[in-house]
Amino acid sequence: MMQVAVFKMAPKKRIALIAHDNRKADLLDWARYNRDTLSQHELFASGTTGLLLSRELGLQVTRFLSGPLGGDQQVGAAVAEGRIDFVIFFWDPLTPQPHDVDVKALLRVAVMYNIPIACNRATADFILSSPLMTREYECFRVDPERTQLEW
Ligand code: PGA
Repeated sequence: MMQVAVFKMAPKKRIALIAHDNRKADLLDWARYNRDTLSQHELFASGTTGLLLSRELGLQVTRFLSGPLGGDQQVGAAVAEGRIDFVIFFWDPLTPQPHDVDVKALLRVAVMYNIPIACNRATADFILSSPLMTREYECFRVDPERTQLEW
C-alpha cells in the first residue's frame, strides 16, 4: 500500500532542466526570458543543456551526464531521493530518441513523486509564474521509507 507523506519545498526551488537537441533553442530562449527568476533558484541540468545554460546565459548550473549517456536517469534518481523540486523537460515529440526508455522512466518517476514537470513552454511559463515559486510548498508524495509494494 502506498504511504504518503508531506515534503516541504523551500521558497528557493531546486530545478532540473533538460532539452532534446531540437528543443534546445526553445529552452534557451525561454531561459533567457526568465533568466532573473531562474538565477534566484538552484539549477541542475543534463550535460549539454547545462553547458548551454551556463555558457550562453551565465547561469550557475550543476550538470549531470548528457541525457543519452544516463543524464535523464540521474535526474530521475535525484527526484526519487528528494533532491529536485521540479523538472523543465523539453522533449522532442517528433524525433525518435536512442534513450526513449529513459525519457519514459523520468516522466513516470516525476508523476509518482508528485512533482511538477513541464514538457513544453506554456507549462513552463505557468509554473514559473506561480505564486508558489517564492513560497514554501507542502507537497504530498509517496514515502519510499514507509511504502511496501506487494508482489
Ligand atoms: P543533453 O541531454 O542536455 O546532454 O543534450 C538531453 C537529453 O537528450 O535528454
